[in-house]
Amino acid sequence: MAKVLSKEEWKKRKKLYAYLKLAAAALLALLIVLILLIGLIKVAKNLFSKGTPDTPAAPSMKQELNITELFLTPNVYTRPQNSLKEVKGIIIHYVAGAGTTAVETRNYYEGLKVNSTSKTAESCHFIIGSDGEIVQCIPTDEIACASGARNEDTIAITFCHPQADGEPSAQTYDSLLKLTTYLCKTYGLTKDAVLRHSDLGDQLCPKYFAQQEGKWAAFLAELDTAVGKTAGEKK
Ligand SMILES: [Zn+2]
Repeated sequence: MAKVLSKEEWKKRKKLYAYLKLAAAALLALLIVLILLIGLIKVAKNLFSKGTPDTPAAPSMKQELNITELFLTPNVYTRPQNSLKEVKGIIIHYVAGAGTTAVETRNYYEGLKVNSTSKTAESCHFIIGSDGEIVQCIPTDEIACASGARNEDTIAITFCHPQADGEPSAQTYDSLLKLTTYLCKTYGLTKDAVLRHSDLGDQLCPKYFAQQEGKWAAFLAELDTAVGKTAGEKK
């Protein structure tokens, strides 16, 4: 049987309901403020981040590149572990030994860790093989020993070639283009920051591109298009 409430009890119950209503309203208000605040933080983040270099298109591009990391053992000659603080350019080299594979080149660098001199010390961040495979020997936040004074602010790529003329195979060329595009995107660089080793001095490196201005110009033009194409691919 339902209890019959006295007048006093009714009053109490009414008061309780009023409090409950107030509490619910306060909770709802708090929730709305919280949602608004989160939205505001998100907007502010977007406003101030201005696309950090590593965001656009980079992750999916990197996956496609299929890079094998075979980092050199840290040593004073080929992997001194000096930090590469800011990447301002990309320098392209060739391995010079016709028919050498990417892994062989990496192992050659590794062998230089003993009985080397500062003159014979040689390494690169990335080596592209004749089948287009990419081996990374040095993390991109450390310097490589490839480009003299520009070791301090550049990433070095070298590529394998079947013949002494230094011409890359079609697969090597393709990987070189893709890797350079990816690095340009990652560090916010344009084709103007991509140089041949020969552009730094009198080395004939990479021989094929150093000897044939037209081929190099064509590569840079393709690079320019590729970098431009992926520019809007934000995710
Ligand atoms: Zn070189």
